[in-house]
Amino acid sequence: MIEAEGLTKFYGPISAIRNVSFSIEKGEIVGFLGPNGAGKSTSIRILTCYMPPTAGVARVDGLDCFENSIQVRQKIGYLPENVPVYRDLTAKRFLRFAASAKGVAPKRIAAEVDRVVAACGLEKIAGRMVGNLSKGYRQRVGLAQALLNDPPVLILDEPTIGLDPTQIIEIRHLIRELGENRTILLSSHILPEVAQICQRVIIINKGEIIATDSPANLTSQLQKTAKISLEVSGPVDEIVPSLEAMAGVLKVTPEGDGKNRLTIETDQSKDMRPEISRMVVLKGHGILELRAVQLSLEDIFMQLVTEDPAEEGAKS
Ligand code: ADP
Repeated sequence: MIEAEGLTKFYGPISAIRNVSFSIEKGEIVGFLGPNGAGKSTSIRILTCYMPPTAGVARVDGLDCFENSIQVRQKIGYLPENVPVYRDLTAKRFLRFAASAKGVAPKRIAAEVDRVVAACGLEKIAGRMVGNLSKGYRQRVGLAQALLNDPPVLILDEPTIGLDPTQIIEIRHLIRELGENRTILLSSHILPEVAQICQRVIIINKGEIIATDSPANLTSQLQKTAKISLEVSGPVDEIVPSLEAMAGVLKVTPEGDGKNRLTIETDQSKDMRPEISRMVVLKGHGILELRAVQLSLEDIFMQLVTEDPAEEGAKS
């Protein structure tokens, strides 16, 4: 439904994105994740026909975003990072205006505005000036605007930025609901956001795509070693040498006060928990906890986006 093929964009001499390629199937909710300045908005501006790429092709539903921009725009509901809502109009008047600008037939405008007002839970505030609304409600007005004409694709640029925690939860719920029958691309620099809403994540860093997968697959593929957390009833120094001697154990690190807790890094290929538990029991200790530690998406993201600078630092 959404395809980016070798997208490259230069702003004058500044290279913002290089060879960005991905594709999003119909009905998917995909997160576009990357630190600030990574190239998310640039990619999104190309996909939403706001500007052409320097090289490469963007397509929505098979249509070239540059060559067929009018048809593409009709298929996309776009929530830009800074919602361009007119503060001195009521929410309803703004939506009527936006509907007319989007080419909704005049006799359908009232019904279409009522539909998006209901979809975004705006009934109570529809008669209030946009400028007097909370940021959360303004964001909902922006989403309602994106839903006008019922586009099959929604592209949301940092939809929760600047919202308070309650508003963030509400907007996430709303996005999940909207995703039940639409294709959604949602950009964010916040990990929990994409982990909670999206089935798949595209990670961009310094203008290049560095990973694309489900949060679960990213975790298992990128986790190079397995980590086990162990808590025993006796002092750990009695078991550390035996652990270190085991084939497959790479590193043993005391945790907490260093008396009863350890983190054991092992080879990824084999679950070493049974072997470890036998050894601990043979040594006469009780096991209070023995648990595989999963890397969070946040750990992986940090690993991915900080790898380069570390390498560059090592080279210089
Ligand atoms: P993100 O949305 O991930 O924060 P952007 O796409 O906005 O990233 O920016 C990518 C890079 O392009 C950054 O280095 C940014 O400074 C640069 N950039 C973005 N917009 C412009 C512009 N209009 N002119 C020059 N450089 C820009």
